[in-house]
Amino acid sequence: MQSTSNGMAGGKPAPDQEVIILGTGPAGLAAAVYAARAERHPLVLAGPEPGGQVSLTYTIENYPGFPEGVQGPDLYELFQKQAQRFGAVVDYSSATALDLKSTPFRVNADTGEFRTRALIVATGASPRKLGIPGEDLLRGKGVSYCATCDGAFFRNRSVMVVGGGDSALEEGLFLTRFASQVTIVHRRNELRAGKILRDRAAQNPKIRFLLETVVEEIRGPDSVKSVALRNVSSGKTDVLPADGVFVFIGHDPNTALFRGLLDMDEKGYLRVDDRMRTSVPGVFAAGEAADPTFRQVATSAGMGVAAAISAERWLAEHQ
Ligand code: NAP
Repeated sequence: MQSTSNGMAGGKPAPDQEVIILGTGPAGLAAAVYAARAERHPLVLAGPEPGGQVSLTYTIENYPGFPEGVQGPDLYELFQKQAQRFGAVVDYSSATALDLKSTPFRVNADTGEFRTRALIVATGASPRKLGIPGEDLLRGKGVSYCATCDGAFFRNRSVMVVGGGDSALEEGLFLTRFASQVTIVHRRNELRAGKILRDRAAQNPKIRFLLETVVEEIRGPDSVKSVALRNVSSGKTDVLPADGVFVFIGHDPNTALFRGLLDMDEKGYLRVDDRMRTSVPGVFAAGEAADPTFRQVATSAGMGVAAAISAERWLAEHQ
């Protein structure tokens, strides 16, 4: 099958590509803008969560250029439109297996098999789980990892938010639009979140804090009814009623597919150098899959840009 200039063949992405980008978060789509403008006709595989964490975030207030803030799904749409304007092709599929032993690399996706001369991994990160009884069983039945997606189901209800970082407070504040009470449960006596969010949460009459407290069990049976809590300093346990439990305790990189193929640290973050090069020449990584430190929309977009520029240079050198 012949590849056309926009990487399409018969309405489907052509099997042979110059650049494949895995992921449609800020890193993947920023890389796509640059690779497309370099006329490398990138194919972007959207992955299981199109838009990544951005599309699950209600308001983003710290991405430059939006002084009033921007809604996450809107920002995702803008990123994608900009990439497509320059010819990037977005395929709503996920990579399932890779062969990186020689070029062209092979990428198996659930829509077919592709070969590519360069690969940019921007698979992002996923919410971390508590790993406690009831969590998996009641997921979607009161247990959630996304206030934007599920908040409206908790109108006039009482919810618990687990975590003490920026996400827990920001999403907890968002939940006060719907819920009658939001209890933030944090394992230490000091919040990790920054001052702006701490102050906003402290001033919100619907928010209360349970510090030095861990959730030990989420109880149903058919939907969330209560949570078992333990105070870590006194050891005292308690069961409190709750209609929902929102978990915001950080993220783990989505890099399982690359285990044994690309170097990663002990937490699974891909190791990259200052040019976003991974341990395999021709494979680049950007965004939260390769960033244990900053994990911001703006830094992910910046890493995506750097990865695309490096990929372009690598392609030019290996023409
Ligand atoms: P985070 O900063 O890593 O915070 C995770 C929180 O969950 C911490 O308070 C941590 O407790 C707690 N935690 C971790 N594992 C736990 C467990 N097993 N059980 C109970 N609690 C647990 O993650 P994040 O809040 O998702 O933020 C990630 C990054 O995005 C940060 O750099 C943050 O600044 C940024 N972010 C920024 C904004 C904003 O600026 N508006 C909004 C959202 C996120 P400890 O504190 O005890 O470790």
